[in-house]
Amino acid sequence: MSFDLVLFGGTGDLAWRKLMPALFQAFRHGTLPEGGRIIGVARDDLSHEQYRALIASRFGGVELAKRPSEDEFARFAAMLHFLRMDLSRPEDYARLSSMLNERQADTVVMYVATAPSLFTTVCEQLASAGLNQPQVRIVLEKPLGHDLASNRAINETVRHSFQEKQVFRIDHYLGKPSVQNLFALRFGNALFEPLWRRENISNIQITIAEDLGVEKRGAFYDQTGALRDMVQNHALQLLCAIGMEPPINAHADAIRDEKLKVLRSLKPWTAETLSQHVVRGQYTAGGVNGTAVPGYREESGVDPQSRTETFVALRTEIANWRWAGVPFYLRTGKRLASRDARIVVTFRPAPHAIFKAPMGAANRLVINLQPRDGLELHLLAQGQDNRRNAQSLSPVQLDLDFDRRFGSERVGAYERLLLDVIDGRLNLFVRSDEQEEAWRWVEPILDAWKSDAQGPRPYVAGTWGPSASSAMIAREGLCWSEEA
Ligand code: NAP
Repeated sequence: MSFDLVLFGGTGDLAWRKLMPALFQAFRHGTLPEGGRIIGVARDDLSHEQYRALIASRFGGVELAKRPSEDEFARFAAMLHFLRMDLSRPEDYARLSSMLNERQADTVVMYVATAPSLFTTVCEQLASAGLNQPQVRIVLEKPLGHDLASNRAINETVRHSFQEKQVFRIDHYLGKPSVQNLFALRFGNALFEPLWRRENISNIQITIAEDLGVEKRGAFYDQTGALRDMVQNHALQLLCAIGMEPPINAHADAIRDEKLKVLRSLKPWTAETLSQHVVRGQYTAGGVNGTAVPGYREESGVDPQSRTETFVALRTEIANWRWAGVPFYLRTGKRLASRDARIVVTFRPAPHAIFKAPMGAANRLVINLQPRDGLELHLLAQGQDNRRNAQSLSPVQLDLDFDRRFGSERVGAYERLLLDVIDGRLNLFVRSDEQEEAWRWVEPILDAWKSDAQGPRPYVAGTWGPSASSAMIAREGLCWSEEA
């Protein structure tokens, strides 16, 4: 199968940090169909050779094991091409069209890795240039809009230009091996399904913690914030993977129908829940991993008076028969104590205690997303300490580390997703109605913040966020997983 992958924004941060390394890994693993072209597009005036040299220089920043040897890069580079285009100029699309017509590939992927303000222009111009035939697939990066209205407007334009089955909306969390294993765990084994409900589960926590700050993306982040950047997409997609009903089959629409039902079942916000169940924070100067770091307002590109949140914690419920009354806690932030993304499913304790056991530590399934990728089942057992007292139990864990079990050369998230686009598999991509439903649900939070004089609560960089976050969860007699 021949393919052309057009990378709009081919010299940008996403292209060289994530997409090129992922494409190279696919090439190295022999999974990228042979004879394909990867065509970088930007306004720079580069020859194919200059573009190859630029990409080669950028691989210096990639971790050693994933860096190509000279010989490997030479073979990979043969796929790389460059086309100078200004995406806002309709006449430039004719040159793209003639480049693609040179060989009429079976599949043409248009990966839009540019500023979101160009998304609709690119879709419209591709359609006007006739570059929306059935063999064309378009990949859109987040964020798709900054609220429900702008998301709808983008989706409307995309709909006019492409059929939904041609549109691949990326949420790279869905490409993570541990998220796919969550689907495998839930729907490939009968063990958990009978337990996966309100009668047996006490609460669920989803944490996506970053120790990094805004890096070089301060100006972008200041317009976005943690709710739009992480909760509306990644955290809600993880919540869907945990909360959805078993789909009738593994086809994309069967899976996406079930995720959509979860989003529609999220409890609507009220004035009371908005004030009690949502906490926003912003980091101040502190220390992360032993290094002093500036506060958010001192970061380059950030307004010194900024009210943008770098942390969100919230509580919600899925209002259906399976989950009614079970709290789902979502939390994400920058400059937190460690880089740690995980889902913790806490089961109810044994109904009648005949053993002595420490509180809280066991009865949990932990799905680790980063930095490790794996599953832990926390149980109670008789360990070394129990020689003199058989009635006393200690916490133990069954640990499945995917890197150790399957090797660290497994397919990374972007590699998986790029191959899925080339192969036309939509399972791990987000449908427009899912996305709109997610925006509909977060919008009351954005509205409430507009009229909230208090602004985000400060937290010291290198901690787990504002104390109000722990207070929120403590009101139900619970604590965040790192404190358990
Ligand atoms: P970036 O570093 O600013 O790169 C933008 C790219 O677009 C450059 O190659 C730029 O090249 C090109 N470009 C800009 N205007 C253009 C125009 N009129 N015509 C042709 N090319 C143009 O941005 P980025 O960080 O890679 O982000 C790209 C997209 O991915 C954004 O939507 C972002 O939100 C999303 N995203 C990024 C990350 C990340 O880690 N970076 C993560 C998730 C999502 P020239 O200026 O030379 O034209």
